[in-house]
Amino acid sequence: MSKPSIFVTRALPGDPTPRLREVANVIVWPHDEPPPHDELVRRAADSDALLTMLTDPIDAAVLDAGKRLRLVAQMAVGYDNVDVAAATECGILVTNTPGVLTETTADLAFALLLAAARRVVEGDRLTRTGGWKSWHPSFLLGQDVHGATLGIVGLGQIGLAVARRARGFDMRILYHDRTRHPQAEAELGAEYVSLDRLLGESDFVSLHVPLASQTRHLIGQRELSLMKPSAVLVNAARGAVVDQQALCAALKERRIAAAGLDVAEIEPIPVDDPLLTLDNVVVTPHIGSASVATRARMAEMAVESVLQALRGELPSNCVNAEAFSRRKQA
Ligand code: NAP
Repeated sequence: MSKPSIFVTRALPGDPTPRLREVANVIVWPHDEPPPHDELVRRAADSDALLTMLTDPIDAAVLDAGKRLRLVAQMAVGYDNVDVAAATECGILVTNTPGVLTETTADLAFALLLAAARRVVEGDRLTRTGGWKSWHPSFLLGQDVHGATLGIVGLGQIGLAVARRARGFDMRILYHDRTRHPQAEAELGAEYVSLDRLLGESDFVSLHVPLASQTRHLIGQRELSLMKPSAVLVNAARGAVVDQQALCAALKERRIAAAGLDVAEIEPIPVDDPLLTLDNVVVTPHIGSASVATRARMAEMAVESVLQALRGELPSNCVNAEAFSRRKQA
């Protein structure tokens, strides 16, 4: 019997593909840029599994082409780029890499929170361009983090990890989620509140919900208008959770103090985007999980999912187990 075929959409850190090559023919897309959509369609048609990144639109066209496709193994915890309903319909399993990137992403979210609050990047820019003229009592005043109120939207794995960091800064923690988390309330003293109350009472709002139809533009003009003028918004979830145009206007008019963003509605954010003209925003290029150790763990986990699926098992991190029974029945 011929070996199954796997298409990996980018070279993986730590290169765990030798494990795959023992059991499959592996093709790794060799470029830094993602494969174009027609290439994904073509590769899906010839593959038993795809190992994908969040930049790969795995839509119905790709999935329909994948007549032999058993699995889409996404190397990320978020999988909003994958049409999971269409995959399930076709009996194709979808897996992600939860847990292994939690602490690393929470570190970055907290770094953005601190940087935006204390104007770290703006200060660095001013220092390099001769803007540090003298010590002045009113120069670069920011917001205190310690003792402030943090509102976490989406108290899942990353939201919880951010809350644990906030405890070390003596912060009061509010949260909003579609599910209540009594254990976190007890352990972290986190208080469950409505989204509107969270926005009105928080000094910092940190977003950690997945992108889905219910969370697209969860934070828009109305929600931003509920925030304090001194508040800081952090988004290390997905760009489209925030209406970026509304955010830009709020930051420009100083209706909120600052934002720290790891994600944008269009990535990479165009260099002429009006948001990038503002001093009160810190933007990083979607590097939440980008540590050497974590990226290697994510790659390893995605590879493990492929191996499990090829053995005919239900992979541990499957997000659409229904597809497994559908395939079995077929
Ligand atoms: P998670 O453990 O699944 O947590 C997500 C939380 O959001 C859960 O508590 C979930 O509630 C809640 N939620 C889902 N839909 C909601 C809604 N409509 N309203 C309110 N709450 C809602 O996921 P995670 O590992 O913390 O990751 C969260 C997201 O972060 C990922 O989906 C990904 O998009 C993003 N992320 C970004 C980076 C980066 O590089 N910047 C890195 C990793 C992750 P339930 O418990 O009811 O499901």
